[in-house]
Amino acid sequence: MATKMNISIIGAGTMGIGIAHATAQKNYKTVIYDNSSSSLKSGKEKLYKLLDRLVTKGKYSQDQSKDIKNNIVFTEKLNEIKNSELVIEAIIENLKIKKEIFTKIESIVSLECIIASNTSSLSIASIASACEISKRVIGMHFFNPANIMPLVEIIPAIQTSKNTLEKTKNILIDLGKKIVVAKDTPGFIVNRVARPFYGESLRIYEEGIANFETIDWALKNIGGFKMGPFELMDYIGNDINYTVTKTVFKEFYYDSRYKPSFTQKRLMEAGYYGRKSGKGFYDYTNEISKEINQNRELAKIIVLRVLAMLINEAADALFLKIASKEDIDLAMTNGVNYPKGLLKWADEIGIENILQTLESLYNTYCEDRYRPSPILREMSKNNKTFF
Ligand code: NAD
Repeated sequence: MATKMNISIIGAGTMGIGIAHATAQKNYKTVIYDNSSSSLKSGKEKLYKLLDRLVTKGKYSQDQSKDIKNNIVFTEKLNEIKNSELVIEAIIENLKIKKEIFTKIESIVSLECIIASNTSSLSIASIASACEISKRVIGMHFFNPANIMPLVEIIPAIQTSKNTLEKTKNILIDLGKKIVVAKDTPGFIVNRVARPFYGESLRIYEEGIANFETIDWALKNIGGFKMGPFELMDYIGNDINYTVTKTVFKEFYYDSRYKPSFTQKRLMEAGYYGRKSGKGFYDYTNEISKEINQNRELAKIIVLRVLAMLINEAADALFLKIASKEDIDLAMTNGVNYPKGLLKWADEIGIENILQTLESLYNTYCEDRYRPSPILREMSKNNKTFF
């Protein structure tokens, strides 16, 4: 097999290993660096175990698995990244530490090398400012597990050159990824637009409109979502999901649309993280029968309320030019497996219906979080659809 350009990954944690798997299986020579020998060792062991399992399952032949292993060099010496044409940083989510490593990477690689960050929440402009040639820095946000999830959000910073953007797109397409381009703003597309799936469901639960089992049931059975919001929060981990919400809330200068929930905060404080700790919203150590209210009228109210808030967020992202309408829909169907793109869904439900739902919530609660995006008002007035 012909080999391609050299790629380096910085950080051998969950994401670094997944990204290395994605590049190596497409025959890119991949160097993976970590400053912790134990992380490097455990990352290598996890990847090798996974590859062996995939051979047993018939997904790879012995030779394919061997090729992938041979394509990856694990190292504790940063200098080994020097021949890379692309470096993807996936270390701890800490701006100061990321900036330090970007400065170091730049001092080692060639002038043409692209340096990307897999950050979920930090500003790419800020990370890029650590480099002298900041036009080569870009955001490349993979989803977990990175070797399987098709979506990658590309985030050019204000410093990023067109050339860097185009090269990045081409590499990711060659990796078989579905790409979307997002403005350098908190949460990019997915982590911004998805917030009401959790936030509005928590609010419905806190108001006592339904228990969380019923809300999950409604969103799966009437809404068509693969997982309910509470199941999903337990799966992601209430500690992680709460922290992401809190970060987005702070980054948006405390816009009430992104306000975190005390219910989830208490779960986090109690150590009820979800699946990983055995208990979250649900108890995974004890099969207790769920009390689900299967009243269809109630279920429809729940689904319309959550969907209206999700669509409002997607519409507002379009209004503020965070991404194109096609990319917003592609991001939600491929990054978090939504059954439909939210803007396409809005067309099906009717913009007028969505607007009325939001206005009714706004009038009931007199809270800013329910303010409809101006784009919905304008579209409703002119009888327009998104597609
Ligand atoms: P992780 O904790 O699993 O791994 C981080 C790795 O970075 C560790 O192996 C650690 O030893 C290493 N590291 C820390 N500081 C380093 C340094 N200075 N130099 C070299 N290596 C260093 O974290 P993760 O979940 O893989 O996340 C990594 C990045 O990807 C973060 O920026 C995170 O926000 C982002 N991200 C995470 C997810 C996710 O679902 N976990 C999804 C998308 C993006």
